[in-house]
Amino acid sequence: MAESLSPQMNRLLAGYHRFRHDAWTPHRERWTSLGEGQSPEVMVIACSDSRVDPAQIFDVAPGEIFVVRNVAAMVPPFETAPGLHGVSAALEFAVQVLKVKEIVVMGHGMCGGCKAALTRELHGAEPGEGGFIANWIAMLDEARGPVVAAHGTTGRVAERAMEQAGVRVSLANLRTFPCIRRAEREGELRLRGAFFAISDGVLHVLDEATDQFSPVA
Ligand SMILES: [Zn+2]
Repeated sequence: MAESLSPQMNRLLAGYHRFRHDAWTPHRERWTSLGEGQSPEVMVIACSDSRVDPAQIFDVAPGEIFVVRNVAAMVPPFETAPGLHGVSAALEFAVQVLKVKEIVVMGHGMCGGCKAALTRELHGAEPGEGGFIANWIAMLDEARGPVVAAHGTTGRVAERAMEQAGVRVSLANLRTFPCIRRAEREGELRLRGAFFAISDGVLHVLDEATDQFSPVA
């Protein structure tokens, strides 16, 4: 290639070569069958944060999980207003076409999006200058109130409460989608909240009956 590549792109390509050698070639058959289609049984909604890759955390093979990642692992509520509803499109595809059996919403520790929701540091920012993030995490505004009342707006206790509240908001919003409500009611689909604590690498799972996140043993 005549064009010179950035160090970042070179690093990616070095990784690609490792992937071709170590991961692709030995599993050629699997890749060939994946070339004919995918049938993942799980959808994961996670944050875009570089530290919380669901495929890595759950150690799954290609084809096993259908993933949406965005700022703070948020699911917007079902709405039919004009707009580019990327998360909703992915949900619709996962539930209606792929017929996944489980949707996992995975929040995480040290989440910048949740922290911004908590501190409102981007409040009133212009689009492209923080405004897109502010608008997106305004989905957490309602959940923020009780968190701030209990823990204030700073410190890890408040931040973790906000991060876990975000998972609950996404679960509640998932249930505003008629196709998800129906599939859950008919026992075809289960929803699950989870939380990955970056500092110690421990996954916590939400028990909706007790509303508590507990570490996975
Ligand atoms: Zn995050």
